[in-house]
Amino acid sequence: MKTYDYAVCGMGMAGCALAGHMAARLPEAASVLLLEPRRHFQRDKSWCFWHLQRELMDDAISHRWPRWRVRWGKRSIEHESLAFPYVHIDSGEYYRQALTAVAERGRFDLQLGTKVTSLAAQSGGVTISAGDAIYNAGRAFDTRPLTVPRDTLLQHFRGWEVVTEHPVFEPDTVTTSQPRKCCSSVSRGRVSGRVSNARPAL
Ligand SMILES: Cc1cc2nc3c(=O)[nH]c(=O)nc-3n(C[C@H](O)[C@H](O)[C@H](O)COP(=O)(O)OP(=O)(O)OC[C@H]3O[C@@H](n4cnc5c(N)ncnc54)[C@H](O)[C@@H]3O)c2cc1C
Repeated sequence: MKTYDYAVCGMGMAGCALAGHMAARLPEAASVLLLEPRRHFQRDKSWCFWHLQRELMDDAISHRWPRWRVRWGKRSIEHESLAFPYVHIDSGEYYRQALTAVAERGRFDLQLGTKVTSLAAQSGGVTISAGDAIYNAGRAFDTRPLTVPRDTLLQHFRGWEVVTEHPVFEPDTVTTSQPRKCCSSVSRGRVSGRVSNARPAL
């Protein structure tokens, strides 16, 4: 059984962020196993958020909006901040940067096409099963998506997809939407709502 200091299960947004920080900060001797079922990465998602501080993979930011507009019923509020713009991350570029950082570290072992089936904490670390392979890691970070019971809705959206003859894009002001009703997943709903508004830019 191969043994590592750390293991990261899942190389999506969280796994790539973690692996990027590990590549930048861990001592050269540290060994890291990275397990991901995908064999190829492509731009599959859009991530938008307010940029509050410098981040490791800021080069993956593809657009910054210094102004934003919030519409609530008939009301509309606009704000501007050059210091804290609203930004869009290109997920394809984000994955590329994380994988490049990982590839530059000799003791980082990225296993693509590998699906983790179970993790079990033992006294000496964590045993990770992935198909026929079994690994051991001092610490393991599990970023696999939660299993959602059938017919469960975590979040849903209602709206219109408007197709225009020419691209419609406001490079200076992003228009965000507000949820109608507060619920436990309110922040996730709001974030994705903003992404829908930003989508014509992509
Ligand atoms: C169109 C769209 C827009 C979005 N916009 C935003 C946004 O603006 N802001 C925001 O915060 N969120 C947004 N989201 C939500 C976004 O998906 C999450 O924020 C983010 O991707 C969650 O990161 P994650 O690492 O937890 O999950 P993921 O990025 O989904 O990563 C999970 C990883 O685990 C891997 N995996 C799955 N099963 C296994 C297994 N058995 N073994 C090993 N690995 C496994 C997957 O292949 C994947 O790489 C958006 C989502 C979509 C679809």
